[in-house]
Amino acid sequence: MADKTYDGVMVIGHPLVEHKLTIMRKKDTSTRTFRQLLREIAALICYEATRDLPLEEVEIETPLTKTTARKLAGKKLVFASILRAGNGLLEGMLDLVPSARVAHIGLYRDPETLQPVEYYFKAPDDLSERTVICVDPMLATANSAVAAVDRLKGRGARDIRFVCLLAAPEGVERFHKAHPDVPVFMAAIDSHLNDHGYIVPGLGDAGDRMYGTK
Ligand code: URA
Repeated sequence: MADKTYDGVMVIGHPLVEHKLTIMRKKDTSTRTFRQLLREIAALICYEATRDLPLEEVEIETPLTKTTARKLAGKKLVFASILRAGNGLLEGMLDLVPSARVAHIGLYRDPETLQPVEYYFKAPDDLSERTVICVDPMLATANSAVAAVDRLKGRGARDIRFVCLLAAPEGVERFHKAHPDVPVFMAAIDSHLNDHGYIVPGLGDAGDRMYGTK
């Protein structure tokens, strides 16, 4: 499948991403393999999510001669991980951009209301001067994603992108309605959400699967 982009939503249509995701979906895939594949897919999605970062020319000296070359312009990126499952994506993003700054946003989903409750927030002070990539593997109801981006904007962030692994159509719609200025990058959009807020066919609870907690 080729990349599909519509309305600020990009589904990464790369054979490696699809192959790795298929293994992650299987219920018998081990915790270790699940975590490793999430890390690998995160790096591949990060590659696309950073494709348009601005560059600037610098003078450098190779062993042979002086030349001009290009490097990333501006301040270091910020990866904002929605705890705890966001940390699985974070690892792979940091593989690709090791100098990125990291924000942590602690949100849990109230099992009754499915609404996000914040229990932790720590981010660099100067978010307004940086590109911020918010990460959470599952864009399900999008309640957590919307709340996290609300919070990042409240702290001054203006250039925000969102990276997830899987999304439900309901989540994409809700997120896009709340934050039309925030592009979303993902490996796949699945069929629907079930009554418990899980993505179908999905892969189950991403946090439990990557940390082996169930
Ligand atoms: N969170 C998960 O981990 N999985 C889902 O399917 C939905 C939300």
